[in-house]
Amino acid sequence: MRSILTRPVITLSTACELKRKAVIILDMKKILLIALYTTSMLCHAEGLPDLGDISQEAISPQQERQIGEQSMYQIRADKSYLDDAEIADYLNLLGGQLASNSSEPGLEFEFFAINDNAINAFAMPGGFIGVNTGLILTTQSESELASVLSHEIAHVTQHHLARMVSGQKFDSLASLAVIAAAILAARSNPDAAMATVIGAQAGVMQRQLNFTRTHEQEADRIGLGILRNSGFDVRAMPAFFERMQKATRLLEGNTPPYLRTHPLTNERIADMANRVQQMPAHLVPDSLSFQLVRAKLHTMQKSPQEAIAYFSGALGAQKFGNPVAQRYGLVSALLQSRQHARAAQEFAILRKQAPANPMITTLAGQLRRAGAIVDQDLIAFYRSATQNFPQHRALTYDYTEVLLQEKRFSDALTLLNQQITAHPNDPRLYELQARTYAVLGRHQEEHHALAYNYILHGNLRGSIEQLELAKQAGNDFHELSTIETELKQFREIAAAHAKNSGK
Ligand SMILES: [Zn+2]
Repeated sequence: MRSILTRPVITLSTACELKRKAVIILDMKKILLIALYTTSMLCHAEGLPDLGDISQEAISPQQERQIGEQSMYQIRADKSYLDDAEIADYLNLLGGQLASNSSEPGLEFEFFAINDNAINAFAMPGGFIGVNTGLILTTQSESELASVLSHEIAHVTQHHLARMVSGQKFDSLASLAVIAAAILAARSNPDAAMATVIGAQAGVMQRQLNFTRTHEQEADRIGLGILRNSGFDVRAMPAFFERMQKATRLLEGNTPPYLRTHPLTNERIADMANRVQQMPAHLVPDSLSFQLVRAKLHTMQKSPQEAIAYFSGALGAQKFGNPVAQRYGLVSALLQSRQHARAAQEFAILRKQAPANPMITTLAGQLRRAGAIVDQDLIAFYRSATQNFPQHRALTYDYTEVLLQEKRFSDALTLLNQQITAHPNDPRLYELQARTYAVLGRHQEEHHALAYNYILHGNLRGSIEQLELAKQAGNDFHELSTIETELKQFREIAAAHAKNSGK
């Protein structure tokens, strides 16, 4: 893993500068730049705090958000980051519902999955919450998954990490980047010897960043309230933690990372069970999306042959699980192994059983694109699918691919521009836009779109290179003036970063 300190890090002061300029100069791309630099990096009107002075005062919510953002640049670039729009959309829907019942319903949360079998979930300051695929597959109900997310949301709304960090003593080397690196190491990978990579100071901090028993009990208590207010089964919380504790006893010395960052005691479980007894209990059925996400994760972790055997066996047994989700998994695996006739056959049964659902519609589209289902008008299919499920990003990506194949380039650009207005921080949309411009020979716009794709992945150097290519590639006056402005700003940020990290 590369060090966060050698990666381009956008500093607070230059970001503020950028905000002022960006608002005035940019029009079409304004939404993106504002979303990029102002929501996360609001500035104090009277000037900026020196980054070295953090220990002298409490960390502000804006600084928390910036620490989280910096950690996210690192996480998104890591190969374990699960870049799957359907799973991310599901986690954000579930997490968003829970967060709206927290003490900070206005805080912007981002939930994401890490492709790792270890049981773990972690929160970072500013509302970024990661959950390992191993944990999603270990939960036995959606209420259990919701209880882990609620606990993490409570760590964020109680500012536990910020409170730990602001109690630390820093010397002049300390910066938000060091804090971000330490938090990242402590949260996502508590055992890794990150200290040598991210600097000794971050290493020392990392060891002090495990939540205390008081933090844990507070997160349990508040998390339980979030769970109850969101209509989930509150008994799921003690049930899940108790099962983890039992599993740990069996796997001596093999404690899941989650229990190392969130110390679990008998007292905690007893406390949870006690509170739950005083709340009305009711069984809450799992949503179909929860079941489909788990089926999709199973197909991702197995070979297509293994997945076909697994889901065929489950459907044959007719005893456990959700047959709609099992058949969804089976069709996905059949499609992957190119058994098109059988995939179409099983999908016909699935369609009769399943209610309208965006993941099933996405699969229907993929069967059509592969030729397993014959459809003479794919564009009509996707037009109607994206109208029915406008928030489902996977459908938009696939629709764009179809438009490109059919050489409907201007329709593709119209769709992408609409989507970019709605989701200005989605790097995939800029990648698709760049590909469309490339086919059209519009290289200035192609490189300009790629510059946005790179900056959204936290790659400032790559973004500058693309802006330089864009500058050389065309002569549209309006576009050129935007490019030159951004290039100047991004170079200033890079220079400021080089100066800071050279200290
Ligand atoms: Zn915890």
